[in-house]
Amino acid sequence: MDDFVQLFGRVATVVAHAHGRVNLIGEHTDYNGGFVLPTLIPQRTTIQLAPRSDDHVRVASVSLDGKPTAFVLGAEARRHDWVDYVQGVARTLRNAGYCLSGFDALIQSSVPVGSGLSSSAALDVALMRALRQAFQLDLDAFQLALLGQRVENEFVGAQVGIMDPMVCSLGREGWALFLDAQSLQNHLEPLPANADLVVVNSGVAHRHSAGDYNARRAECEGACSLLGVGKLRELSEADLPRVAALPEPLNRRARHVVTENARVLKAVEALRDGDLHRLGQLFNESHDSQRDDYQVSIAEIDLLVDLARGDERVYGARLTGGGFGGSIVLLVRGGTGRDCAARLRASYEQQSGCKATILVPPDVSS
Ligand code: ADP
Ligand code: MG
Repeated sequence: MDDFVQLFGRVATVVAHAHGRVNLIGEHTDYNGGFVLPTLIPQRTTIQLAPRSDDHVRVASVSLDGKPTAFVLGAEARRHDWVDYVQGVARTLRNAGYCLSGFDALIQSSVPVGSGLSSSAALDVALMRALRQAFQLDLDAFQLALLGQRVENEFVGAQVGIMDPMVCSLGREGWALFLDAQSLQNHLEPLPANADLVVVNSGVAHRHSAGDYNARRAECEGACSLLGVGKLRELSEADLPRVAALPEPLNRRARHVVTENARVLKAVEALRDGDLHRLGQLFNESHDSQRDDYQVSIAEIDLLVDLARGDERVYGARLTGGGFGGSIVLLVRGGTGRDCAARLRASYEQQSGCKATILVPPDVSS
């Protein structure tokens, strides 16, 4: 008997999935109104679901304790745990005018939780897709992403940007999603078939990362008011001399955002040209800018990046995600991703004493 039947005593009528994501380039640009270029990772979240005739919701997550928990539609209340994502989805959809009854749902996921691969947006999007199918909701992928952000901002209380729900909803495996975080204009670009992506977690998380993140946001706002612009995205590389005249460290912060936005556009061109060396070089420049100008890297991440760059199969490597720890993403020669990642992990662990985790390519043995 499968888990759903065992838990709920009936069969699921709907199954839906959503993948996690990694950002290829465009870091700390979203809240500055700029550009990002994420892609989906192979790991995904699956929802099995069956509608009920009452307004009760029962839900369990195999990724967590697997025990069902319940709430009643219309009586959602924040509990500060994973059920808030499910309550938030139900509340947000109903507030937006979509008609739901209760449901039984089972969550299964291979997306590592809380590792910066957007397990939360994968959950929001997979659940909304399951509900859309079960209740025949008239909801397109773009609207679904907007609602996903509201779930996290308004119900869960997580101030996430628009990138995660957009790529989890609009993304496609093997393609990158270009997204303009201001206009929300977006399009898909195919990733080159002759390259592999690798994501390695450093095993280090900075204790004050939330405070440092807020400090960077405040510095960007400071730079905007001195430069007389609403968002740093309004500036281009032609404005770099004005940016250089700002006081330290606002000059560096703004320079990162301006050059990073330009790099996202150049990365899209490199993808179109199939120029892996150019794309790798942009990854490297992005990392150096995060390290020297935005100052969101740490020694262990720089070590990982340097070790990766020492491998001739690696086109480029950079910190991905908010920084102060976390993961790096590498662009490597096609067919070599698994071996590059294993060697990188071994030399990193030997030199840093920290335990690294290979997130992509996923461990097929587990
Ligand atoms: P991430 O970078 O992985 O999105 P977040 O802190 O934004 O990290 O979201 C992680 C939270 O999302 C978890 O603590 C949990 O509450 C919820 N979540 C994600 N995936 C699952 C899952 N498979 N089952 C239950 N809850 C999940
Ligand atoms: Mg998240």
